[in-house]
Amino acid sequence: MSDQSHLDSKYFIDTHVFNCPFCNRNNVSYYLDRSLEFDWSNSKKCYVYFARCTSCDKKSMNLSFEEIELIHKFSSSYRFNEEVGDDIDSKFFYTVPTSFFTLDTRIPKTLRELFSEAEGCLKSNYLTGASVCARKLIYELAIIEGAEGENYDERIKSLKQKRQDVEGEYFDTLLTIQQLTSDKVHEESYDGWQSKHLKLILSTLNEILGMMYVIPTLRDEKRKAILEMKGDLVGEPKQNA
Ligand SMILES: [Zn+2]
Repeated sequence: MSDQSHLDSKYFIDTHVFNCPFCNRNNVSYYLDRSLEFDWSNSKKCYVYFARCTSCDKKSMNLSFEEIELIHKFSSSYRFNEEVGDDIDSKFFYTVPTSFFTLDTRIPKTLRELFSEAEGCLKSNYLTGASVCARKLIYELAIIEGAEGENYDERIKSLKQKRQDVEGEYFDTLLTIQQLTSDKVHEESYDGWQSKHLKLILSTLNEILGMMYVIPTLRDEKRKAILEMKGDLVGEPKQNA
């Protein structure tokens, strides 16, 4: 079967199943129990869809500028019309909870949670909250990777040393932002980042986390699959790799 892991990074997979942001189950069925519309501006409407997970019964909120056709199931439950196709996900511009699972589940949960919180804060323009989460993410990442350092800069330098499989420019970018925004030595006197800095920090961290935790696993899985095919071909006994 071809690699379907890109589906894990979607919210809605199709009109029947989604990846639940609450119970973190992939491919679980959902239904819509409510939809609303309101005026976003004088000329633009916004449509709100509430999707309820059939596994944990929690409800997420999803905003779209497009009215998506619904079909009635029973009492107060609806589905997106099948004709909408598999591209439902791209119709939403904002969702609560945010994109926790757009980060691959191979990335440690603590880091994903902090990333998601930073992203949520940034979307609501809570810059101090977003800054704190991003810094805490670096702190936790340093602990997980056994990196050292008394402050943000030192931890990043240590991470760069430890993980030479990740392009150094990514760590340098994080250091540059820090230097641009603060020439203060002590972390306690740090002022916080602006939205443009945070966007770059989160994009950089997203890449770094992918390279640290996702790519090596994918490579390893591919290597095992190839070895297994080779084993089948030459009749080697299966190894528990
Ligand atoms: Zn759920």
